[in-house]
Amino acid sequence: MLKTVKFGGSSLASAEQFQKVKAIVERDAARRYVVVSAPGKRFPGDDKITDLLYRCQALRALDAPFDAEFSKIAERFIGIRDALHLDVCIEAELDEIRSRIEAGTTPDYAASRGEYLNGKLLSAYLGFDFLDAAEFIRFRDDGAFDDDATSLRQGALLLHERAVIPGFYGRTRAGAIRTFSRGGSDITGAITARLSNSDVYENWTDVSGFLMTDPRIVPDAKVIETVTYSELRELSYMGATVLHEDSIFPVRKARIPIHVLNTNEPEARGTMIVPDSMATDKEHARPLTGIAGRRGYTVITLTKDNLHNDLGFSYRLMGILARNGISAERMPSGIDTVSLVIDDKRLTGKMDQLYHDIMIECSPDTVEIASCIALIASVGIGMVRNPAVAAKLFSALSDAEVNARLIDQDSNEMNIIIGVEQRDFERAVEAIYRAFA
Ligand code: ASP
Repeated sequence: MLKTVKFGGSSLASAEQFQKVKAIVERDAARRYVVVSAPGKRFPGDDKITDLLYRCQALRALDAPFDAEFSKIAERFIGIRDALHLDVCIEAELDEIRSRIEAGTTPDYAASRGEYLNGKLLSAYLGFDFLDAAEFIRFRDDGAFDDDATSLRQGALLLHERAVIPGFYGRTRAGAIRTFSRGGSDITGAITARLSNSDVYENWTDVSGFLMTDPRIVPDAKVIETVTYSELRELSYMGATVLHEDSIFPVRKARIPIHVLNTNEPEARGTMIVPDSMATDKEHARPLTGIAGRRGYTVITLTKDNLHNDLGFSYRLMGILARNGISAERMPSGIDTVSLVIDDKRLTGKMDQLYHDIMIECSPDTVEIASCIALIASVGIGMVRNPAVAAKLFSALSDAEVNARLIDQDSNEMNIIIGVEQRDFERAVEAIYRAFA
C-alpha cells in the first residue's frame, strides 16, 4: 500500500499543527509522499503566507518598501523552526528569497516560496527527503501545466523512498518557476499520487469531508462517506464547494481514490471519492448522495403546436444561441414545448436580440420567460435502482409548498434537476434533504 498525502495551509499553519501532521504521517507507513501548502491562517484575520509573499513582490514592483510584510513571513517560519527545534538554516533561505524579490523577481517565484520553505521544515521534522517540485513538475512557457513533460520526470520522484514535496509550483523547461492557480497544492498532490502509482491520495484539510448539502441551509447536514467521481462532478458543477476540478483529473484518470480527511479530527472517517466502477452495493442502494444548487437562472419556454414534427426547429434554436454566444445549461423538451435554461451571467445584454431572433426564426406560438430561477440538483448513482426517488422528492417538495417550475433528468440517470423560484430555494433544498437523509 502506498499513499500520497497532501496537507493544506491550515493543517500546517503553526508548530502545533506540524505536530499533528507528524503524528498522522507516522501512524501509517504507507504515507510516503507528503505534499505541503504554505502556512495558512492560524485564526480569523491572520495572514496567509502566500498572500504576504504576493504582497512583497507587488510592493517591490511599485518601488515601495516591503520589510514589514517580509518580517511577518520570516517570523512565522523561524517561529515554527525554533518551536520544533529543527536544524534548518531558514535564515539563509529567507535572505536568498528577500534578495530575489529585491531584484524584481516574478509573482510566481515569490508566491512559490511559502510551499518551498514549509517543505524544507516538514522534511527535516519528519526525517523524509526534501524533493523540490521544480525537479519534476513541468510547465509550458505559456504557463500551462505540461502533463507529458511531467510524466517523463517520474524517475525524479521514484528515486525517493519517502519525500516531502512543496505544492503549488513547478518550472518551465527554461527554468522559470511557475505556479498553478490559487489552491494549487491540491493539484501537485494529485499529480504526485498518479506518478507514484499511489493506491490512495489523502487530502488533509480542516473539514471532516463533504457534506450532503450546504450547511448554511441545513446546519446538521451529514458527511458523505463515499461519493463517486461522476457524482462529485455533478454536485460541484451545481455549486457544491469541493476540490478544484484540476486537482481531480490526474487521479480520476488514473482511477485513484481521493480520501478527504481532517487534520484536526484525524479519527473522523472523512469522505472517500472513488471511481464509479469501485462503487459498492452500498452506494448503489443509496437513493441520494448529495444535493447542490445555484441561483441566477432564466428559463425561456417556447411552445409550438406539433413542435416535435418540425424537423429544423432545434437546429434553428441552437444556431440562434451559438450566433449570440449563449450556451444553454439544459434544454428539457416536450411534445409541443422546449425550454432553455440559461445562466443569467451569459444573458447579460443579450436578451433582446435573443428574443427577436427566436420570434423571427422559430415562430413559436408562445414564449414565456421566467427569471429569478434557482436550480437544484439531487444526485446519486443509486437512483437507477431506486424507482421511488422521484416520487419521494416531489412529495417532499409539495409538502413544503414549493412549486417546481422545471423538471429535468439527466440521461445518465443520476441527477434530477428541479427549477424553483429563488425565494423557495432554501426551503426546497431542506425539504429534499430531510426526505432522504
Ligand atoms: N498556498 C497557495 C495558496 O494559498 C496554494 C495552496 O495552498 O494550495 O493558494
